[in-house]
Amino acid sequence: MGPWFSRSKPLSLWRGLRGKCPHCGKARLFYRYLKVEPVCQTCGHDLDRYPADDGPAYFTVLIVGHAVIVPFLILGAPLIWKAPLAILIPCSLAAIGVVTLTMLPIIKGGVVGLLYALDINRADAHLHTADAAE
Ligand SMILES: [Zn+2]
Repeated sequence: MGPWFSRSKPLSLWRGLRGKCPHCGKARLFYRYLKVEPVCQTCGHDLDRYPADDGPAYFTVLIVGHAVIVPFLILGAPLIWKAPLAILIPCSLAAIGVVTLTMLPIIKGGVVGLLYALDINRADAHLHTADAAE
């Protein structure tokens, strides 16, 4: 790809966040919970070339940790200090688990959409700093 290459980053991100192919926006991106379709069922675009790797997990932990847990602790402080631990800990872990597992495919779709828009694919793996150290 040359310098003329340009894909809409907001559109690709939006399509990915919705779990749709970032190229056409019509077909689904995942065939199972976090398994990306190797090839788009509608447009035939090679989706397997965009390696999300640990990015979705990192962003999910970052978002859940800052946007969910901290407000929960601040807003729920009066309740948290009075509630019995036998109820509080299982309920909190279940709620955090549900939020995390709900957000993970959404964020993975967004990461794949952004990788598509920026045309970062497996061929760029040699640019990885961790691999360059070898
Ligand atoms: Zn497609």
